[in-house]
Amino acid sequence: MCSTVTDLQAATPASIVRVVLDVPLDRQFDYLNPGLPICVGNRVVVPFAGRQLVGIVMALLSETDVPAHKLKAVLQVFDDLPFDAATLKLLRFCADYYHYPFGQTVLASLPLRLRQIKPAVTRKMWLYQLAKTTPEDFIGKRQQVLARLVASLRQHGECSEAMLSEVSATWRKAIQPLLDDGYVSRREVIATRPSLPASDLEPTLNDEQAQAVKAILGDVDRFQPWLLFGVTGSGKTEVYIRLLQTVLAEPRAQALIMVPEINLTPQLESRFRSRLSQFSLVTLHSHLSESERLQNWQAAQSGAARIVIGTRLSVFTPMPHLKLMILDEEHDTSYKQQDGMRYHARDVALVRAKQCRIPVVLGSATPSLESWYNAMGDQGQGVPNARKASYRLLTLTKRAAAQAKLPRIFCIDTTHSPPEAGLTPQLKQAIELRLQRGEQSLLFINRRGYAPVLHCSACQWLADCRRCSAKAVLHLRQRVLRCHHCGDEQPIPVQCPSCGNPDLRPVGQATQRVEESMQQLFPQARVARVDRDTIQAKDALTELLSAVHAGQIDILIGTQMLAKGHDFANLTLVGVLDIDSALYSPDYRASERLFAQLMQVAGRAGRGDKPGEVLIQTAFPQHALFAALREQNYAAFADDLLQERMAMQFPPATYIAVMKAEAADYSLVNQFLTDFSQAARDYVTEQAATLPDQPLVYDPVRPGIARLNRMERGYVMLQSAHRGALQQLLQVAVDWVRTHPLQAKIRWVLDVDALEY
Ligand code: ADP
Ligand code: ZN
Ligand code: ZN
Repeated sequence: MCSTVTDLQAATPASIVRVVLDVPLDRQFDYLNPGLPICVGNRVVVPFAGRQLVGIVMALLSETDVPAHKLKAVLQVFDDLPFDAATLKLLRFCADYYHYPFGQTVLASLPLRLRQIKPAVTRKMWLYQLAKTTPEDFIGKRQQVLARLVASLRQHGECSEAMLSEVSATWRKAIQPLLDDGYVSRREVIATRPSLPASDLEPTLNDEQAQAVKAILGDVDRFQPWLLFGVTGSGKTEVYIRLLQTVLAEPRAQALIMVPEINLTPQLESRFRSRLSQFSLVTLHSHLSESERLQNWQAAQSGAARIVIGTRLSVFTPMPHLKLMILDEEHDTSYKQQDGMRYHARDVALVRAKQCRIPVVLGSATPSLESWYNAMGDQGQGVPNARKASYRLLTLTKRAAAQAKLPRIFCIDTTHSPPEAGLTPQLKQAIELRLQRGEQSLLFINRRGYAPVLHCSACQWLADCRRCSAKAVLHLRQRVLRCHHCGDEQPIPVQCPSCGNPDLRPVGQATQRVEESMQQLFPQARVARVDRDTIQAKDALTELLSAVHAGQIDILIGTQMLAKGHDFANLTLVGVLDIDSALYSPDYRASERLFAQLMQVAGRAGRGDKPGEVLIQTAFPQHALFAALREQNYAAFADDLLQERMAMQFPPATYIAVMKAEAADYSLVNQFLTDFSQAARDYVTEQAATLPDQPLVYDPVRPGIARLNRMERGYVMLQSAHRGALQQLLQVAVDWVRTHPLQAKIRWVLDVDALEY
């Protein structure tokens, strides 16, 4: 590593610095080094188009094609080295695979503070360890504090100041002679939050858990994806903890645990902190302040943090000693980034694990069809393009806690028992019963606001968003109509804008309205609502969850936010409202998502020693999805869906990419997309002989929400059973787009492996 100017000059005659910048151009830029101590991986400040930008150094060269008079000089270099070669390799892969400018890929992966023109400031702390094995010779008989300090150092290997001050308040003074005489040494690292006190709860693993742990630990020195398929409450988290305990026992080893939305599951973080309290742990997610984010990121990058728990972006965090990756709830769609580079964190994690030659564990009660397919391979499918199973499957079939049983699931046919104020008589009765017994109920409705539609019965007028082709949702409490797609708000009209009728009616159910009905039906009950509107404040959810645990809530109403991970011992009833639209949605992934959501939310019932019950209100109780759900048979459901996808040639049977475009004027979008699909088709025809498969190129179509935020939208889908063939086509297609005359007049984005159009 170069440290001084003279070192650098001696080592290399390079005077050209090649950097990547956060600009939407898919290239790197050369600058002159005016004699600064610059290394590959450094952050530098350079002039660019009249501004100053932070760049990352990719190479040091002795010459460049840029003419000397145009070559500008690097202005400044910071002494932090944010990237290692492994991380840059991963980012390079992603830029190529998602066809996104490399510079933007690299810089977007950094905490904001490292993209700003200032040095990175982080807090440090000291770690102490024994340097000689026989400090006892040095300790006098009555020096009990010292003896305890040494015992603690011996037990933990390395101790932070926080750990030592737990041993004794006077540890600093006591340990000084040991430091002076070289019995103890210390090193400075990026500070991490102290762990929680160690938990002594260490359940004995059941056979399935033990087998899973044994299988994975028996094969940790190479790349291997594992699908840990376990029903809710089957003890997957316990399996993760055991894996970490063993893998992290190796000095310096690090592990990355990814979760969909960490702030929704505060329990999970404290469980890891207390069960793995000997290892420094940091989190990375969007609820951290920028300085916390930098601190935690640097702790991971420097190796000081042994465990990182993070959301999708954490997949890019440099971790020099990464030995294991875990993705919990791997099916969750929040792993897919929906703007900027549209990566899927699960897919990136697999690539990273492969590059690092380490195992990656994907956990879920309802695996994504992609992962299910990769675990099943062509077993019994009899399809031409089936792959061989590349994931190894581990199954946990029952709930782990001794008393907990899977809940019983029933459908209530709303055609025979029409709901009143959203509730069928059966569900109402079931809630009453819980109230009498002092147990808790949860009502799941995946729509926030008061009602999804405001309707005029005289002329059939419906309230629309002014900017989107979507309905405006009625939010009665805030007295607005709000669009859930663009956020636009408009006042609630006092009369029908179309015919003047003053009698406008809310139609349908959403969380606020269900809350209101519950308060009217059960005035004595303590009702709480959980959705994005009620828990905007950082600690609101945590407070509400503790109220639920403390038995201060009788009826909980919530969206999918409540479906994830929570463990409510006294919750014995889950009611599900208004899901029928997802049963027959034009989106072929809707039923996969619905099944996962219902399994998740059903999984909240009966986690303690009382049995749980799930009541689903639907007009289609005969639907195959419910049959599988009642038996909690995900495998049967997934196999059916997979057959269907095979027959229709949808993912995961094939790979897709979607070229999306939008502009204020649809004719531009249509022109651009028509040209695009023609050019793509021409390429496929020309290259028929060299392409390993001939990708299909569809005509431009409009998405379900054709206008979003005043922009008219369209897309073209490209599809192939062969990933390489699709990639080859995309490479050419994106180059073509970048030179198309319309590309500056519209907004376009390529979404590889798109989940939504
Ligand atoms: P999952 O992650 O699959 O939802 P958890 O690991 O959270 O499951 O386990 C569910 C509950 O069962 C937790 O309260 C956990 O402490 C408990 N548990 C897990 N494994 C065991 C076990 N082997 N014996 C007893 N209880 C267990
Ligand atoms: Zn009207
Ligand atoms: Zn809108």
